[in-house]
Amino acid sequence: VEETDSILETMIRAMGIGNIHGRDVFKHSFADMHITSEYIRSCVDNYLCKEPEPRMAYRDKVHVPIRLPQNCAGCPHLFTYAILKKLNVVVASGIGCCGLSALPIMNASNIVQSMGSAPGIIHGMSRVEQTDSPGRYAAVFGDGELWHSGLMGIINLVYNNSNCKIIILDNDVIGMTGGQPHPSSQYSNSEKKINLNIKDLCKTLGIERVFEIDPYCYEDYYNLLVQEYRIDGISVIIAKKPCIRLHKGNKKGIAVIGEQCVKCGQCLGTGCPAIETERKGEKLLYRINQVLCIGCKLCIRVCSKKAIVYKEIENG
Ligand code: SF4
Ligand code: SF4
Repeated sequence: VEETDSILETMIRAMGIGNIHGRDVFKHSFADMHITSEYIRSCVDNYLCKEPEPRMAYRDKVHVPIRLPQNCAGCPHLFTYAILKKLNVVVASGIGCCGLSALPIMNASNIVQSMGSAPGIIHGMSRVEQTDSPGRYAAVFGDGELWHSGLMGIINLVYNNSNCKIIILDNDVIGMTGGQPHPSSQYSNSEKKINLNIKDLCKTLGIERVFEIDPYCYEDYYNLLVQEYRIDGISVIIAKKPCIRLHKGNKKGIAVIGEQCVKCGQCLGTGCPAIETERKGEKLLYRINQVLCIGCKLCIRVCSKKAIVYKEIENG
């Protein structure tokens, strides 16, 4: 069942195989609907002239909790979003791993549109300036997006004397689609390794305030953003840390939630999937999944009750 055009169906028919069905069975416009298992079964029943059986949807029989896509536990991107939330910044994000920041429970981005669109969108929003956060705008996108089309957006911001900050989440790969390399990747598997330098590129465009920072250095990162939001004009912050998939083997410790926890949910708001809740009767329990946690310490930084501690692990 193809979502848009009947490409496979047409090509197979062109190969001379006549006994093929597609749009004659699935007649609706897929652009306007979701292809659910119920939809597929009803179309097939219809085609086979079978009396549709009264079926309960599977989801009515079994309680399947809704699970939205999330970043990995310890993803360096989560530090950026936790700080931007704290600073009440209006954020346009790129797609992929950055785009997950717009979903509950993180709710850190105001808009996510398409690959490389963040700088253009945030520039427009800053010009309209109808927010509670005057002067606090950020375009946040990944290094893969920069090379895809984000560079055009940065040039546009420079040309138009924008007052937005640009945060490039440089994790050295295109994470969401499996870790493909790109022109600034150290991990490039291409023989034509060119290793473009993002900082040099931004300087070449005439941007004076360009910084590289390890996003895991939470306090330094926070202070850098506070400093840059005091200054008008463009700043570029390159949050440089490899994708967690490239270095999570080096786990030395984990975070543990202690007795002081007041169940305020601040730690959940980081979007780290290792932080879990469970309702037991009247009680709501917060805990950290020790298998998922990689000990990045973000939750420790955001917990204002100091209820989370770091515990070293043996043979870490
Ligand atoms: S932020 Fe701290 S106090 Fe709040 S729920 Fe998490 S661990 Fe508990
Ligand atoms: S230290 Fe906290 S934020 Fe980092 S991976 Fe573990 S639970 Fe998640």
